[in-house]
Amino acid sequence: MIVVADKEQAAGLPAIVERAQNNGVEGLRLLSADEAHALEPEVACEGAILSTCTGIIDVHGLMLAYQGDAEEAGAMIAFNAPLRGGRITSDGIALEVGGDAPMELLAEEVVIAAGLGAQAAASALEGYPSEAILQLHRVKGSYFSLTGKAPFSHLIYPVPVPGGLGTHATLDLGGRIKFGLDVEWDADEDYDVDPARAELFYETVRRYWPGLPDGALVPDYSGIQSKLSGRGEAGRDFAIHGPETYGQRGVVALFGIESPGLTASLAIGDHVAGLLGYGEAL
Ligand SMILES: Cc1cc2nc3c(=O)[nH]c(=O)nc-3n(C[C@H](O)[C@H](O)[C@H](O)COP(=O)(O)OP(=O)(O)OC[C@H]3O[C@@H](n4cnc5c(N)ncnc54)[C@H](O)[C@@H]3O)c2cc1C
Repeated sequence: MIVVADKEQAAGLPAIVERAQNNGVEGLRLLSADEAHALEPEVACEGAILSTCTGIIDVHGLMLAYQGDAEEAGAMIAFNAPLRGGRITSDGIALEVGGDAPMELLAEEVVIAAGLGAQAAASALEGYPSEAILQLHRVKGSYFSLTGKAPFSHLIYPVPVPGGLGTHATLDLGGRIKFGLDVEWDADEDYDVDPARAELFYETVRRYWPGLPDGALVPDYSGIQSKLSGRGEAGRDFAIHGPETYGQRGVVALFGIESPGLTASLAIGDHVAGLLGYGEAL
């Protein structure tokens, strides 16, 4: 449920539904404050959108399933084998790979899907055009978990804020509730959760859950997203550069695959396969 705190925000809900529908999202319903209250009695709001198709997944389970599918189709995965550099030649793409067993490879096709490392990996590839490498903005987001019983049975989102989805309540498969992500622009690579950020979480969460007790939030984990827009700039979509964009045969590079990159991962995979000329057969 996406919930709004006041009538002014409620007036913006139909536009969110329309935009989602234009993007092919199904199963959205506008709810009055009373309807929302009937579904989630603990939630205070002036209206809501209910997404009936939203679900949660076990991320590690999904990764293992992808790995299993890839290996069954003949892939070999070299873990702890960072791409250190390489060059695009007329014979293919020569790659220098580091790690415990450094090696050189000549590839026909390369997909740079390196998250926060994508810009560095593309820069290390001699012959890859620098104008194709979009600036990286790191945005850290922290979660705090709730001690005690879950007060909701749906994921509860406020309306989005610049740079993020707003501090929402998310349920895991074990039924535990976490609140996050907040937005910390241009973060260092430090994954500690600062307990002092709890103050802001109490304030934000109480706008839709006034019953949040003092002392109920404990620091959980954090992550850093790779974004293409900086603070104060309009949000930018993922950038997926295939051979036709910059004329690099056999190279696809993905930049700024922030949330919902995981949700979109199968679709992104199909898109990348299409760019390399495999259609959607993969
Ligand atoms: C806290 C948090 C919460 C999120 N929640 C959601 C959510 O609810 N739903 C959703 O859809 N998305 C969510 N996302 C976004 C999602 O995690 C990303 O969109 C997704 O992980 C991007 O996948 P990727 O494979 O492009 O990059 P990554 O998952 O970052 O993987 C890139 C990999 O490349 C490796 N790498 C980097 N450089 C090199 C190199 N030189 N050589 C070899 N390997 C390299 C990295 O070590 C890493 O393993 C969340 C992200 C964060 C941080």
